[in-house]
Amino acid sequence: MAKILEGALVTASLNESMKKDVEELKSHGILPTLCIIRVGEEADDLAYERNAVRRCEKVGVATRLVALPRNIDQASFDRALMAANGDNSIHGILMFRPLPAQLDSEKARHMLFPAKDVDGCTDGSLAGVFAGHEVGFPPCTAAAVLEILHSFDIPVEGKKAAIIGRSLVVGKPAAMMLMKEDATVTVCHTKTRDIDKICREADIIISAAGSKYFVDENFVRPGQTVIDVGINYDDETNRICGDVDFEAAAEVVDAITPVPGGVGSVTTGILVRNVITAAKRSCGL
Ligand code: NAP
Repeated sequence: MAKILEGALVTASLNESMKKDVEELKSHGILPTLCIIRVGEEADDLAYERNAVRRCEKVGVATRLVALPRNIDQASFDRALMAANGDNSIHGILMFRPLPAQLDSEKARHMLFPAKDVDGCTDGSLAGVFAGHEVGFPPCTAAAVLEILHSFDIPVEGKKAAIIGRSLVVGKPAAMMLMKEDATVTVCHTKTRDIDKICREADIIISAAGSKYFVDENFVRPGQTVIDVGINYDDETNRICGDVDFEAAAEVVDAITPVPGGVGSVTTGILVRNVITAAKRSCGL
């Protein structure tokens, strides 16, 4: 039976180091602060917001909410975003997207200052990931994948990694981050042939396809680590599930993340850590 890579263990150690960092920042008179910009009241946004606020409070990071009406016009939205951008007491901005249809989501993404882009959605942040520079922040989910590997001392250097999915929020940045740490990476997508074979040859499998139980016993072999990023809904069990057939894979591989309780639970912790890092960068710490 595989070792279960519990997100809660990663989060606990993240919290400890974040609390120390916040204390240090406070001793320099800086209160790390996240500004959440929400337009309307989408259930998913509200759930993520509650979680983010709770996680910030736990380590002493302040939050400020800018809740805008669903029918807000572009000029008013732009003013709210630029006010957060220009406010030196705000270190990170989480802007829920997609925005309502009357707003230009791309324009908003371009307006957000990469230095405050703790969610890793701006071109500046993505350029930083691809060029290996510390501009902005990598998308939180891709960073959570790396955090889990590091936290459980799973070696990356010289290892073969297979990533299923090539989105800008998970697959592509995760590939760049693994490559930066000297892994050899194969990125798979819907046109890739023999994904099961590619995965069997890998030391680390990262699945971010959004396809339930896609990774089954044919994709795995002993010795592997499987990181399941997928969040899907199983209509038969009425439960959240990943991309991986957990029961089948856990019988074979060395280590595996559960869903729920794996990558998803670490992702918000990374967002909070990014706020703290942004605050440190703002004062040269
Ligand atoms: P996305 O933008 O829809 O991208 C999915 C990627 O997977 C695409 O590149 C797609 O290939 C590929 N793919 C889909 N089905 C495939 C299949 N059967 N075989 C091979 N490749 C396949 O999704 P995303 O935003 O990256 O999210 C992926 C999953 O991660 C979703 O379940 C999402 O809910 C979850 N997620 C979790 C977190 C977290 O914190 N845990 C955060 C974000 C997302 P093509 O490019 O060819 O279409």
